[in-house]
Amino acid sequence: MEKKGALIVISGFSGAGKGTLVKRLLSDYDRFALSISMTTRAPREGEEDGREYFFVSRETFEKTIAENGLLEHAEYCGNYYGTPKAYVESKLSEGVDVILEIEVQGAFQIKKIFPEAVLFFVTPPSAKILEERLRGRGTESDEVIRKRLLRADEEAELMEQYDYVLVNDSLEECIKDAVSYIDAAKATPLRNKDFINQLKEELDSFSKGV
Ligand code: 5GP
Repeated sequence: MEKKGALIVISGFSGAGKGTLVKRLLSDYDRFALSISMTTRAPREGEEDGREYFFVSRETFEKTIAENGLLEHAEYCGNYYGTPKAYVESKLSEGVDVILEIEVQGAFQIKKIFPEAVLFFVTPPSAKILEERLRGRGTESDEVIRKRLLRADEEAELMEQYDYVLVNDSLEECIKDAVSYIDAAKATPLRNKDFINQLKEELDSFSKGV
């Protein structure tokens, strides 16, 4: 069966609990690696360069795009975000499952380049809970919260194009579901083309030999 790692895209409304879900997947399972994105957004309190993001200037970001160093990139609420290419490609070839925590435009760019990528959309159980979580985080101004809710409204339209929806009601359930969907996705014919082709060749020569 397929030896290459799976590319896992996790999107969801800001405040849906994606970050917590991703942290738990990384701490509970050895098989996952997280891609660290590059962004032009300013670091929030407690964030470190090279841990949450690579925080760069617009100029550096644009230079990286020009050098073809990003797998995908998008603009979100006035800032650029993008996935550095080299890390993802090397981890996948080592057989590690790579997680990208990215927004919808980036997710669809990834699906175009890697049709076998597994796309998850994480959502809280209701809009009211989403708003409460955003306010409860206490790191964003009212204006930023309003922008993020407007953005959520737009993103909801695109949820249907994902492979799986994860309702983050209970975090433990959400983690279990994510892992079992990833395992199921790994067994689809689309993700096992090399194995299937090899098997077909073997069967072909067997059937000719009898
Ligand atoms: P935040 O500013 O809250 O850290 O992130 C804002 C949004 O950008 C989130 O939806 C996050 O998933 C998304 N994001 C983070 N990194 C990337 C990236 O590399 N590419 C894209 N397309 N989106 C990203």
